[in-house]
Amino acid sequence: MEPSQIEIPDNPYLLLTPGPLSTSHGVRAAMLRDWCTWDAEYNDIVQVIRKRLTCLATPASGYTTVLMQGSGTFSVEACLGTVVPHHGKLLVLSNGHYGDRIAIIAKRLLIPFDVLDFGDTGPLDMEAVNNTLREDRAISHVAMVHCETSTGMLNPVQDVGDLAIRHHRSLIVDAMSSFGGIPMNVNNLWVDYLISGPNKCLQGVPGFGFVVARQSQLEQCAGNARSLSLDLFDQWLEMEHRAGKWWFTSPTHVVRAFAQALVELEAEGGVEARHARYVQNQAILAQGMRELGFATLLADEHQSPIITAFLSPSHPGYEFGRFHAELKQRGFVIYPGKVTKTDTFRIGNIGHVFPDDILALLQAVRESMYWA
Ligand SMILES: *Cc1c(COP(=O)(O)O)cnc(C)c1O
Repeated sequence: MEPSQIEIPDNPYLLLTPGPLSTSHGVRAAMLRDWCTWDAEYNDIVQVIRKRLTCLATPASGYTTVLMQGSGTFSVEACLGTVVPHHGKLLVLSNGHYGDRIAIIAKRLLIPFDVLDFGDTGPLDMEAVNNTLREDRAISHVAMVHCETSTGMLNPVQDVGDLAIRHHRSLIVDAMSSFGGIPMNVNNLWVDYLISGPNKCLQGVPGFGFVVARQSQLEQCAGNARSLSLDLFDQWLEMEHRAGKWWFTSPTHVVRAFAQALVELEAEGGVEARHARYVQNQAILAQGMRELGFATLLADEHQSPIITAFLSPSHPGYEFGRFHAELKQRGFVIYPGKVTKTDTFRIGNIGHVFPDDILALLQAVRESMYWA
């Protein structure tokens, strides 16, 4: 086939997953040309993205954004491995898979750490956090997950931030699945490092991640990194001093698509408008699924507008694989569960997904309940 004959195919089904997720035609079309990583045209795009992300995180000055190659976890690892000094200690607050992953990274990187584990579905206990910070003076940094994607639980960054600042500790937040979909101001929340990526609420495609950092803190991180390619400080220095250059080859097409995704976020009305759409999507989803007889894993007060975990039907004939296949055939891809003690499945409502899509999904779920 002649290259000119290739069209951008439409998505065969909607990804109702926490990312990668369904993106717009515009975002996918933006990938169809090549770029040189030494060219100012490309580097300017990188600089615009960095500035824009910093603005999305806070209107306050004193923050900077560093992009990092890889999936989201690479940025979590780059951040932890670069910002916690060798004489420092990390306190990990975990209530799910992604909190646990932070601890696993710390262990692998030989970063001294402690974990406060609140279980699969337990909310963070602020008194326990307060006591630990008061008693263990060695702790220099606290790490937490904003939206715990394994359950859909939204954790209170403000409460943890208030404790972190009171005890003079640095706060690192994995906001991978929430940034861009939930309004936040990292300066007011006392967040020193916010980690996120393009392929969740910002509705781009996967290939890099980023850290929005309090610059005065990042500046003190030279020589800390436990890795060459995941040195967040060196990457930042390169991007700052060489105007948008990355230390190693960057995912050019993904970066260009992300610039388009940010334009589309603006056109939608910014993070507030996107949040309103996600809240509406999730409300329609939860109510409709309850009407079909499903129960949510979490109480509504802890539920994020990002992804919802539902208890698997107790019917002996139910099997996730078949339910998934029935739905996929009808145009929707859902996600398996990720909690250890309860059998669940998850449905994401972020991405290029609208209330009408959720209504169509509910109809498809009704038709796919082969066991009922
Ligand atoms: C998606 C996600 C990540 C990153 O996962 P990758 O598979 O590496 O992209 C990290 N933390 C949270 C909370 C996430 O939802």
